[in-house]
Amino acid sequence: MIISIDQNSGFCFGVTSAISAAERELRAGALCCLGDIVHNGQEVSRLESLGLQTIDYDDLRTLPPHSRVLLRAHGEPPSTYWIARQRGIEIIDATCPVVKKLQDRIRACYETHKNDEPLPPQIVIYGKPGHAEVIGLQGQTNNTAIVIESADQLDRLDFTRPIYLFSQTTKSIEGFNALVEAIQSQISNLKSQIVLEAHDTICRNVANRVARLQDFARQQDLVLFVGGTKSSNARVLYNHCLEANPNTLFIASPDELEEKLPPLHSPLSTLHSQPSTLKVGICGATSTPLWLMEKVRDKLSLIP
Ligand code: SF4
Repeated sequence: MIISIDQNSGFCFGVTSAISAAERELRAGALCCLGDIVHNGQEVSRLESLGLQTIDYDDLRTLPPHSRVLLRAHGEPPSTYWIARQRGIEIIDATCPVVKKLQDRIRACYETHKNDEPLPPQIVIYGKPGHAEVIGLQGQTNNTAIVIESADQLDRLDFTRPIYLFSQTTKSIEGFNALVEAIQSQISNLKSQIVLEAHDTICRNVANRVARLQDFARQQDLVLFVGGTKSSNARVLYNHCLEANPNTLFIASPDELEEKLPPLHSPLSTLHSQPSTLKVGICGATSTPLWLMEKVRDKLSLIP
């Protein structure tokens, strides 16, 4: 068996710098993180073993003054900063600069157009409702932005009012383009004269991975995609992998190997490219730590 790890998989710079900030600040004293620092249970556990305490919004409202709270790469709505100020909480802001820039753009769009007459605008976010980044983006519009996940939800838009469309950073470019096309065709079907401003704000750190990931997947007999079950980026990239190689398995940890792995050494196995070798590739999402992919490799190499 030849096992290789995809060199392009693993943390993006936004997640890497949030984790570095957590490690650095933990050396200086007690530290809480608002929500899981990354959508990967194993990495969260590793940082918790160093002392990081994961808290939720209810906890934030009851923290004593001078507590230190790290804001993760996904970013937060203005209300979080307001609560922290009211309670005298120290914020360590690890919002990814790409997300920060998107928040600023959405806020500027909202402030510029919120009083437009006679047609008040609609700010639309192509994203996953309830996702931490999306909550932060909606917050820039006083929670007036409409979140839609696909073209099936166009009935939520009013085609008599201008539409300003943005995207959650980790959505797929194809999905965004399909949505823009569907909105444009609805506008033209209704012979509407409204403005559609579509801003492709997908992070290229994620989008550029797809082609490389698919190349890697095609070269393997079997692909093990390692990702957190809560990560939307992991689901998106896993599906791209599966498209390139149907022999792709999603696993959250090395412990799932025995349960999910097909028979690797059976002479009847359909996985083998050649009778004597089986190429197994390990890859992951932007929230998958390299050490976790290495653990999968090490455990796999012990399987008889
Ligand atoms: S995927 Fe892009 S926007 Fe999201 S945290 Fe990583 S670098 Fe930042």
